[in-house]
Amino acid sequence: MATIFSHAVVGCTMVGLLPSKLRAKSIYFFAGLSAILPDFDYLGYVRQIPYSSVWGHRGITHSLLFAAITGIVLGVPHGFWLKASAVRLSVFFFLTTISHGIIDACTNGGLGVAFYAPYNTLRYFFPWRPIQVSPMGLGFFSERGLVVLISELYWILLPCAAIALVRVALNWKRKNQN
Ligand SMILES: [Zn+2]
Repeated sequence: MATIFSHAVVGCTMVGLLPSKLRAKSIYFFAGLSAILPDFDYLGYVRQIPYSSVWGHRGITHSLLFAAITGIVLGVPHGFWLKASAVRLSVFFFLTTISHGIIDACTNGGLGVAFYAPYNTLRYFFPWRPIQVSPMGLGFFSERGLVVLISELYWILLPCAAIALVRVALNWKRKNQN
């Protein structure tokens, strides 16, 4: 896994995909939450469910099906609250949730991601895996944790910061043109 902090940053950065009138605080909160939600399977790891099980780490909670259900569960109520398209917001939360599995599939350790669970429980990685895998639990507070943080800074956090800066610059330009 990548750290939950980096996953949350990716989810919040993706709010930029929505038009500005939909960028409510709750959207930022749930975009970040949906991007870390798949790692709640860590509870199964604590309860000694095997990693390779469909209920294990990077199993069903990292699948396209889980992302679709999460997308609908979060997108439909937000559609009502914001008087916006529930379909659009469901697709948005699907994307923030599946971003988690996509990033995990770019890490260089552990088992792959069961994108097609429960239909197909094979685990997948992408051919390009530049992100150092994060140790589970307290193992993060070690020299290895520092290597992971540097890797995520380079491959996840700095690109997200660059996207945020471009957005700020474009908004500033747009305001000054009006
Ligand atoms: Zn994960």
